[in-house]
Amino acid sequence: MIVAERKSIPDLVDILQDHKKILVLGCGTCVTVCLAGGEREVSIISSALRIASNLKNLDFEIEELTIERQCDNVFIEEAADAINRNDAVLSLGCGAGVQALAERFAKKPVYAGLDTAFIGILEDRGIWAEKCAACGACVLHQYGGICPVTRCAKQMLNGPCGGSREDRCEVRPDRPCAWQLIYHRLKDIGQLERLTEIAPPKNWEPGHGGGCRVIVREDHRI
Ligand code: SF4
Ligand code: SF4
Repeated sequence: MIVAERKSIPDLVDILQDHKKILVLGCGTCVTVCLAGGEREVSIISSALRIASNLKNLDFEIEELTIERQCDNVFIEEAADAINRNDAVLSLGCGAGVQALAERFAKKPVYAGLDTAFIGILEDRGIWAEKCAACGACVLHQYGGICPVTRCAKQMLNGPCGGSREDRCEVRPDRPCAWQLIYHRLKDIGQLERLTEIAPPKNWEPGHGGGCRVIVREDHRI
C-alpha cells in the first residue's frame, strides 16, 4: 500500500487560511489502512481545524466526505457536488489522489493534507515499513523476495557491505540488515546457490531519473 502521514494542524491552517468553505476529503483505500486519511481521520482533522478556526478567528466552514479512491475518476465523481460547493479541497489522499482531483477540477484549489511517504506494509501494530521503491525493473526473484534496493541502505546487489553487526544494518541499526534477511530466506527456500551468482548492473533506466513514468497498455486502448 501507499503509506502517508498527516501534516500538522498548524501547517494545515497555514495552507488553508485564505479559504472559508473547505471540503476535507478522505480516501478509503491505502491511506485508510495506514490510518492517515480515512473517514476517522477526516473527522479528527475536521474537528481540529474547527477548533483552530475558532481560536484564530478564521471562520472556516468545514464539510467532511470520504470516497473510496481519490486516484480514480469513477469515484471522484461521487465528490463532485461537494467539491463544487466549497472554496477549496483539503485532500487526505496520497499525492496521486491530490493530483487526480486537481486535474478533474481545474479551477478549484486542492491541497495535500498528507505527506506521502512510500510503498510499504504494516510490520507491527503502529509500524509501517517501506518495501518497494517502484524502481520499474523488479529483481525480487534474485533475492528470495527481499528487496535490496529498498531495504539495504546502500542498495548492495551482490552481497552485504560488511558493516552489519548482530543482524542490524550499519546505517540503520533500528532495521535488520537486508542481506541477513536475504541469506536466511534463500536458505529456507533452498536457493542459497543464488549467492554465488554475480548480479549484473541493475537497469535503472525505468526508474524515476527520467521524469514522469507512463505505462501504455495498447490492448486496453482499442
Ligand atoms: S526491485 Fe524495484 S520493483 Fe522490485 S521490490 Fe525492489 S524497488 Fe520494488
Ligand atoms: S548493513 Fe546490510 S542492509 Fe545495511 S547497508 Fe550493509 S548490507 Fe545493506
